[in-house]
Amino acid sequence: MKYETLKHEFVTHFPDQPESGVLYISIEYKSVSHLCCCGCGEEVVTPLSPADWQITYDGRSISLSPSIGSWTLRCRSHYVITRGRVREAGQWTDEQIVAGRRRDRLATERQHGTQTQLGETMPKAVQKPRSWFAKLVDWLFGR
Ligand SMILES: [Zn+2]
Repeated sequence: MKYETLKHEFVTHFPDQPESGVLYISIEYKSVSHLCCCGCGEEVVTPLSPADWQITYDGRSISLSPSIGSWTLRCRSHYVITRGRVREAGQWTDEQIVAGRRRDRLATERQHGTQTQLGETMPKAVQKPRSWFAKLVDWLFGR
């Protein structure tokens, strides 16, 4: 991990040119954004909701759960942010990614009580050009 600690900044809008090593939190838009901690420069936007990500602010630092990564990042980094510190969480296998996506979709459907398009709650990173594996997952789950 190139960045092992993250500062945080409460903002309304995310900056056009975010800085590495900063976690931007927008309460208004219920989401958190940061540049991937491996240093690849990919922006990771994580929506906040009971079915997505949650933050804990202890007055000094931010914790974010669940972990960041897996299918949300092309570099396949996987890490946990706890009290402003970045801890590597190991690479996910393709099977875990499939299971994770399915679990997320079920959680979202439960929360909204309707069929929800996965794309609505997924971070921006997923909406970029899709890999063969993502296409396979789409095919498997009939999207
Ligand atoms: Zn990365």
